Amino acid sequence: AMAVPDKQVASVCPYCGVGCQLTYNVRDNKILYVEGRDGPANHGRLCVKGRYGFDYAHHPQRLTRPLVRREGVAKSATAPMDPARVLEVFREASWEEALALAGGGLARIRDAHGPKSLAGFGSAKGSNEEAYLFQKLVRTGFGSNNVDHCTRLCHASSVAALLEGIGSGAVSNPVMDVLQAEVVIVIGANPTVNHPVAATWIKNAVKGGTKLVVCDPRRSELSRHAHRTLQFKADTDVALLNAMMHVIVAEGLADRDFIASRTSGYEALAENVAAYSPEAMAPLCGIDADTIREVARLYATSKASMILWGMGISQHVHGTDNARCLIALALLTGQIGRPGTGLHPLRGQNNVQGASDAGLIPMMFPDYQRVTEPGVRERFAQAWNVPVAALDDRPGLTVVEVMEAILAGGVKGMYIMGENPAMSDPDANHAREALAALDLLVVQDIFLTETAYLADVILPAGAFPEKTGTFTNTDRLVQLGRQAIDPPGEARQDLWIVQQIARRMGLDWDYGHVSEVFDEMRRLMPSMAGITWARLEREGAVVHPCPEEGHPGTPVVFTDDFPSEDGLARFVPADIIPADERPDADYPMVLITGRQLEHWHTGSMTRRATVLDAIEPDPVALVHPLDLAALGVAPGGVITLASRRGEVALYARADDSSPPGAVFVPFCYYEAAINKLTNAALDPFGKIPEFKYCAIRITPG
Ligand code: SF4
Repeated sequence: AMAVPDKQVASVCPYCGVGCQLTYNVRDNKILYVEGRDGPANHGRLCVKGRYGFDYAHHPQRLTRPLVRREGVAKSATAPMDPARVLEVFREASWEEALALAGGGLARIRDAHGPKSLAGFGSAKGSNEEAYLFQKLVRTGFGSNNVDHCTRLCHASSVAALLEGIGSGAVSNPVMDVLQAEVVIVIGANPTVNHPVAATWIKNAVKGGTKLVVCDPRRSELSRHAHRTLQFKADTDVALLNAMMHVIVAEGLADRDFIASRTSGYEALAENVAAYSPEAMAPLCGIDADTIREVARLYATSKASMILWGMGISQHVHGTDNARCLIALALLTGQIGRPGTGLHPLRGQNNVQGASDAGLIPMMFPDYQRVTEPGVRERFAQAWNVPVAALDDRPGLTVVEVMEAILAGGVKGMYIMGENPAMSDPDANHAREALAALDLLVVQDIFLTETAYLADVILPAGAFPEKTGTFTNTDRLVQLGRQAIDPPGEARQDLWIVQQIARRMGLDWDYGHVSEVFDEMRRLMPSMAGITWARLEREGAVVHPCPEEGHPGTPVVFTDDFPSEDGLARFVPADIIPADERPDADYPMVLITGRQLEHWHTGSMTRRATVLDAIEPDPVALVHPLDLAALGVAPGGVITLASRRGEVALYARADDSSPPGAVFVPFCYYEAAINKLTNAALDPFGKIPEFKYCAIRITPG
């Protein structure tokens, strides 16, 4: 018989940015099952990850004691990780010893080589309070702005374009607004897989009469519900979007009043798109001119049109340009600032919005206040009780730049909390070489990740259901995740560990309850000023900006003006820039990476969740049946994928959602870590690598 829970705890899902609320049903410190709650983003719905992806927390491979690398065991960037042999590489240590080696070691490197010899990666999986404390530790304890997290690999280019164009990096309207839209464009995103509950609202909107346009080089499940599907050629986003804008300008469909009263830079944009007629762009992007015209008219003339996008837009060397075009499209037609309109870059991680808001980025303090502005530095120095001169006045290094700086000898020590760059960074062999070259690597996590395997000190942390904190979803909704169970063995909550490291670096921190960190944070963040801990406990969720107590929160922003200096939004024209690495005779095919429904990111949690691992247990590459036939490989056969940077072997799955010549591979499989192949070339503005396009070849076996 099924055990009866002795406790029910209201919390949120630890996986994607949709932010579904759920209930943990617990007995004897064990989660028995999970149910959906009536949260603002999910109204009781959950996807397979939220519902079944919880027993990783009870997995026997959880780290339960601090570990220290054994003397004489060298770090190898190429040795495969073997969790069964962990005690041959590391020995167990007391917290006292591990913290002294970690915090004391980082302090010694700082004192010997200066603040810039250290860097820290926090996590978009941690709470707002953890992100806030971590960046405060780097800024006041390390003494630099060398702090970043996986937002750099996700929407950094979207955020760069949004800050430049409309003065705010967050979404303008919540996902649920699709129910009020007449037209919805989903571009470079596969919500059925990556934001599953959001996809259900999009399908509900279609049932209610909304016209859905899906634009993507891969055909997705959502296109079955679409009014039009534009399967454009990979890497031609700017050509397609400029052609749509060309139609809108040439046919007089632009919203002249909106442009005149709320924007600047229209003339330059109109002049630029004049060269991009649908007829000229059709052969480039593989979409006929009539379809481009039809979709442009549909979007421009509806009463309310909304755009949602994902990593297919952002993860290119022209990711910022792609996002500039989407912003321009909305401004050109006045499709922003009202319910059912606007721009929604779908956030990946459960707290990538919140971690960025809380300042876990190298160029800004909390709430996007720039480190380069003297007034901002003064305010934070005062609040943090440090001299102004102690705060670095220059932006720090980003994720990929840190790896370069290690190999160049500049960065010698790192503290990584809950991120796995050995799997998630592009050109992963290179990233692993860098991590292995550090004098001191401290990793704080719940499992022995591929990154932890290269560490000197490993600190065992609490998993999501083992702590309380706030998390901000893709809609800017701040929600409370509540502790349901205790951490196993000697594992401790991240907030405690970060404070212990801080103390050993000379800071006198002593926060009690997590709400004390939240209170300090909201005092420094105008957009969160009105959200009190008591209100979160009462209401469970409040949407920011929420400038004062009693304010209802702001689901739809930009209704009157934009948060830029002059209150106007800016058009920024973009021209075509090709991918950094095009296919050629040696590497004739294109690799596109992403996720699959059952697994999350580098797989450290979902591959240890029984149900999810049973559904998708093995590394696969999705290859067009014609390409498989040409290789002489049957579906299910083993193939080797190689780029100029590395190779992996995995199983071939016949799949015609990409055109022949393009291969899709999920990045969650450590035994076939596909990021060994991807290209680290960066978008110059967002510093995001080009995960969505590189040249590869396939061989059988
Ligand atoms: Fe969790 Fe996202 Fe699935 Fe909701 S849609 S249950 S937040 S993974």
